[in-house]
Amino acid sequence: MPTIRLPGLIDPHVHLRDPGATHKEDFTTGTKAAIAGGFTLVLDMPNNPGDPTVSAGALARKRDAADGKLFCDVGLYYGATPNNSSSYEDVVNNVFGLKLYLDHTTGDLKIDHLETIRDIMLAWPKHKPLCVHAEDRTLAMVLGLLPYTGRSVHICHVSQKVEIELIRDAKERGLPVTCEVTPHHLYLTEDDLPRLGGHGVMKPPLFRRRDVDALWANLDVIDMIATDHAPHTLEEKMGDPVPFGVPGLETSLPLMLAAVHEGRLSLDRLVELMHSAPARTFRTPVQPDTFIDIDPKAKWVISSRVLHTKSAWTPFEGMEVRGAVRSVTLRGQAVMRDGEIVSKPPTGEIAAPLA
Ligand SMILES: [Zn+2]
Repeated sequence: MPTIRLPGLIDPHVHLRDPGATHKEDFTTGTKAAIAGGFTLVLDMPNNPGDPTVSAGALARKRDAADGKLFCDVGLYYGATPNNSSSYEDVVNNVFGLKLYLDHTTGDLKIDHLETIRDIMLAWPKHKPLCVHAEDRTLAMVLGLLPYTGRSVHICHVSQKVEIELIRDAKERGLPVTCEVTPHHLYLTEDDLPRLGGHGVMKPPLFRRRDVDALWANLDVIDMIATDHAPHTLEEKMGDPVPFGVPGLETSLPLMLAAVHEGRLSLDRLVELMHSAPARTFRTPVQPDTFIDIDPKAKWVISSRVLHTKSAWTPFEGMEVRGAVRSVTLRGQAVMRDGEIVSKPPTGEIAAPLA
């Protein structure tokens, strides 16, 4: 079968749950899932349940937890709280950005007060990315603060028609904003909820068909694809209350390749969305001699049985997709061959951002 060589994919938004909630995922299973999905570098969010990455000590604990477990490279984010800005100086050179939560999701890092939000936007160094979970009205607030604070922001998981329209307008006005969209917000709608049950519960939630259509129609405004890989156990997703989030590392490339197959985007644009733009925006280090070989035409049906993530379920169960990762090479060494993880011991590293 003819394969195509692409650069190792970069996912700017994952939750590997380690340390703090390793019954959901850990650095071993999460980075195996990343490799299986064609990602050679993922950036890990700070809202670890039980041990959020909001102090230099917590950041050190996360680095320690990753030691010897990484099959792909992992970069770390720092989390904003109302009163941890004095620690920015100690951590800024070791993380890829600050994450600011303005809406409810996993963990309790949500910040409400306008003055606190403004002060965080001013305090975090302007040359470093500031990733914002800002849905609906809070997105308008963040965009409104850009001229005042004179800084850039990266908007996580855009999911509504009005949001992508406001971001388009902000970009046309020259405001420094980038954004990401997840494959689940490109492929699922609220109409899928009865079928998906707890597997369709996520933040932001699934919206209407018109929102999904607007994301596709504004693909030129979307800077990058992020999986927002957010694993939970099957028991948790069948429970009450249902925790927010779905795994995505192993299904995102095939879903986007299906879009290439359907003529909705070009392969070059896919590489921009899943490698070049995140590399540029987050100043990720070059991974020498690192690439993936994919069979772009392979037709297969997504099944939880083949997943490496500890959360052995997917909202895309049974969906037919095009394109499969055949092999992954990291710094000249084979990590995956014919679908099997072969690197022993794991050769991934904690990534350091470019200065
Ligand atoms: Zn997330």
